[in-house]
Amino acid sequence: MSAEPSVITIDGPAASGKSSIARLVAERLGRIYVNTGNMYRAMTWAVLEAGVDPKDTDAVRAAAAGIVIESSVVDGKTKVAISGRTPTDAELNSDPVNRAVSLIARVDEVRDRLVADQRALASIGPLVMEGRDIGSVVFPDSPHKIYVDASEEVRASRRGAQGLSDQIAERDRIDKQRKNSPLVIPAGAIVIDNSHITLDQAVDQVIAGLQLS
Ligand code: C5P
Repeated sequence: MSAEPSVITIDGPAASGKSSIARLVAERLGRIYVNTGNMYRAMTWAVLEAGVDPKDTDAVRAAAAGIVIESSVVDGKTKVAISGRTPTDAELNSDPVNRAVSLIARVDEVRDRLVADQRALASIGPLVMEGRDIGSVVFPDSPHKIYVDASEEVRASRRGAQGLSDQIAERDRIDKQRKNSPLVIPAGAIVIDNSHITLDQAVDQVIAGLQLS
């Protein structure tokens, strides 16, 4: 038996549909679903609670060093506790967090800590892990990599339909241009364009493309 962790990686831009796809792929394959965006969102929430300006990298670095963050999976949900307190979904997806999260996520020390936590989660069982750098940086040796894309119009209208005002174009710009672990199509990834297919069709395409043994 291989000692390599088994992780299906799913990356892609904001509101591409990758969370819904990743959750269903995990369900169909009996794997554990991990949402790494929630980890960056929880860290961002904590930095904002500390009254730190998200654009001030030195202040973010100093605040992040003092934040105790613990990630686990409970009942299929990625739970992130900050010094013992778990921010609610509303807090994680609030306008201030949406505006600040890509600024916090570009800070090296924040990424180093969260990437280490993400790798540690592989010990809990076979995973489907979604994010921005999972196939490129967190588990670059995974043989099972997916990149989910959708047109900007489709992505903006999906977020609008969820009642969320989210600056997805700005987040994508920062996520793609940052120096550390930018959003890229990982080498060897299967690319799924999710603009004009149903969720079930996207899940079928992922599972067919993975050629799991
Ligand atoms: O997936 P979600 O849209 O909730 O992610 C929120 C933000 O967290 C992204 O826009 C990105 O800045 C950051 N992120 C990241 N790396 C990941 C997951 C999320 O930088 N693996």
